[in-house]
Amino acid sequence: MTRYVSTRGPGTPQSFVNVLMQGMAPDGGLYIPDVWPTLDRGLLGRFSGLEYAEIAYQVFSLFTGGDPEPASLRKIIAETYNGRNFNHPAVAPLAQVGPNAWLLDLARGPTLSFKDYALQLIGRLFDHVLGQINKRVTICGATSGDTGSAAIAACRSCRNIDIFILHPKDRVSDVQRRQMTTVDAPNVFNIAVEGTFDDCQALVKALFADQQLRDEINLSAVNSINWARIAAQIVYYVVAATALGSPDRPISFTVPTGNFGNVFAGWSARSMGLPIDRLVIGSNRNDILTRFFETGEMKQDKVQPSLSPSMDIQISSNFERYLCELTGRDFDRVRTLMEEFSKTGKFKLPADLFEKAKQDFRAIRCSDEETLAMMKECHAETGMLIDPHTAVALHAARQAVESSPAVPMVVLSTAHPAKFPDAVEKATGVRPSMPESLARLMKKPEFLHVLPNDLKKLKSFLRANAGEK
Ligand SMILES: *Cc1c(COP(=O)(O)O)cnc(C)c1O
Repeated sequence: MTRYVSTRGPGTPQSFVNVLMQGMAPDGGLYIPDVWPTLDRGLLGRFSGLEYAEIAYQVFSLFTGGDPEPASLRKIIAETYNGRNFNHPAVAPLAQVGPNAWLLDLARGPTLSFKDYALQLIGRLFDHVLGQINKRVTICGATSGDTGSAAIAACRSCRNIDIFILHPKDRVSDVQRRQMTTVDAPNVFNIAVEGTFDDCQALVKALFADQQLRDEINLSAVNSINWARIAAQIVYYVVAATALGSPDRPISFTVPTGNFGNVFAGWSARSMGLPIDRLVIGSNRNDILTRFFETGEMKQDKVQPSLSPSMDIQISSNFERYLCELTGRDFDRVRTLMEEFSKTGKFKLPADLFEKAKQDFRAIRCSDEETLAMMKECHAETGMLIDPHTAVALHAARQAVESSPAVPMVVLSTAHPAKFPDAVEKATGVRPSMPESLARLMKKPEFLHVLPNDLKKLKSFLRANAGEK
């Protein structure tokens, strides 16, 4: 049965449900499976032709150790991954963009970004587990865009969850704001903070530092380091590879990367036995990962705004999971390196580990100009409009395949172009038409509370609104 250990020390191995509910390990580390389950050839061979939900159940249940019990898990997964909740019967369809290149379209969920693939499942799992133990939690987070709307969409129908999402007032795009604020549900609270995204994050951090408040309203988070998100993301690598002939031929993937969560799911699939040839990381001008794979040094820089804002990140939290595996689970070494990083903003790997890392990943950066050029080129060649995050990855993929064009390359397409209409129009001259679900939002009333950048006021707002309605 799969249990979980922290990247900073094994401690007592934890169950899947504990790991789902806790998020981060108490020692500040991230959870990883104590032993990786395997995807052997026999199992992969049987996936051919199955529906997304069936493959999702078979892969995800390798990680749950029987809790939630199989019948409930199967039902939750079937409710999550279907052609109604996601707007395509294949859930994650492939589209060909070159002789041996495909886009894996992960913008088919309720908020049209790939984050729905994990969060739609996690919201339902959370609610199920809370219902069983008769508990209610308050989820609180800060967003600069995609994550907040995906989290709200995941929690809006949950009976045992209240969700409070802070965004910087007047500093997120119209579409992104409306995806959050047009949700009319008694357990959803949008807070527009008079400040920046950093102010929002600092407020949330301060809430979690208040132990009394945490206990009072059962404060929780659905952040990018939750193991269950990685487990859910492993599924679409398996689905895409199977559709293209796995396990009989290897497939490569390119992933637009920020927090290293999505690409780590690809690494996980490979370490479980999925025949993945190459994993290519696409980064924008916030290129901490590309610089790392060039020099062996992880070094934080200032965050600079780019055309692919969901990757404007200078700390790739999930990298710690990879670091743990890279060092052969030398927990003390991971803790030392991560403490050094949080103190000084950098750490350097010794040459032997750096060489190993370079065999696992290749990383390529893409400037805003190259992003626009790629959107234009893709549209001219295929007639397809792609969003700026997808363009970063496609640019990286085209550079990477030059060395092994015989292996199919799958590029993860992480957002719908209509979420970034200005960039798409600037690149191609065509304004992407809005899917019906987005167009509807532009006419709906908005529900939001404006609060000053003031911790005391935020705390009393939470106390007044969290809890049974
Ligand atoms: C979050 C996000 C990413 C980055 O994914 P990570 O798992 O953080 O690497 C890429 N593209 C889009 C559209 C996103 O919303």
